[in-house]
Amino acid sequence: MTRIVITGAAGRMGRTLIEAVLNDPDATLVGAVERSGHALLGSDVGALVGRDPLGITLQSSLGSVLSNGAAVVIDFTTPMATLEHIGICRHVGTRMVIGTTGLSRDQQLVLEQASRDIAIAAAPNFSVGVNLTLKLAEVAARILGDSVDVEIIEAHHRHKVDAPSGTALALGQVVARELGRDLEECVVYGRQGHTGERDRKTIGFATIRAGDIIGDHTVLFAASGERLEITHRASSRMNFASGAVRAAHWLLDQPPGLYDMQDVLGLKGAV
Ligand code: NAD
Repeated sequence: MTRIVITGAAGRMGRTLIEAVLNDPDATLVGAVERSGHALLGSDVGALVGRDPLGITLQSSLGSVLSNGAAVVIDFTTPMATLEHIGICRHVGTRMVIGTTGLSRDQQLVLEQASRDIAIAAAPNFSVGVNLTLKLAEVAARILGDSVDVEIIEAHHRHKVDAPSGTALALGQVVARELGRDLEECVVYGRQGHTGERDRKTIGFATIRAGDIIGDHTVLFAASGERLEITHRASSRMNFASGAVRAAHWLLDQPPGLYDMQDVLGLKGAV
């Protein structure tokens, strides 16, 4: 039985994660945390997901919640909150599944340093389908090489605060790596005005923010005479949440280190 604490529990992903844990016979919810000052602090977590009381109240101190003996913290919050939670989990020795996106390079470094002491699974997207998409994009880039133009198009709901999405950047990274390019050097974020002809060695990103789109990603490989589009569309947040819970189970058997969803699914080195 995997004992799980969820941070950001009243958020969009937090509530979906609560459902995912409650629906998993091999997982137990042992705590739920929200930011101090949140209006729902002190209320029963069952109410957050329209269920009967669970006997677990929403709390603001991750440190004291972890004294309940959690095996894994699942964190889908904000970069600042995630950093704070990493410090606490590192101190206590609790594994983490981190889904928060938009971490700066420095914040990413802190995460990497913490993974020397605790096992961390961090991914911009915990969906199994998206992780397969990453693999398919890698294989396509390997075979198509420099003979195609690569563009990454993503769409998300109007509340998303970072762009391009972490998943779009991860797709860009696997393609760039496969083509022997440095993404930071070849990236083009949107186009406007007189741009000149397209440079084949660039990787372009287009971002759509609209309505309640959960998350769509397309990698477009366009050559003269044909084009290949690899598309993933999320229709519910449950696919991210069930992937994160799967990662939490998997972490139980791992030594300290930094892992991603490709590790969890055994996709590294496959194909
Ligand atoms: P949200 O705003 O609905 O939820 C975030 C929650 O975190 C809020 O309830 C907020 O009050 C809470 N929070 C903020 N500071 C906190 C703190 N110090 N302690 C505890 N809780 C705190 O956002 P969301 O749509 O649920 O997304 C959260 C994050 O997860 C974003 O970075 C998003 O991009 C990312 N995300 C990742 C995946 C993935 O598969 N990796 C999927 C969906 C969303």
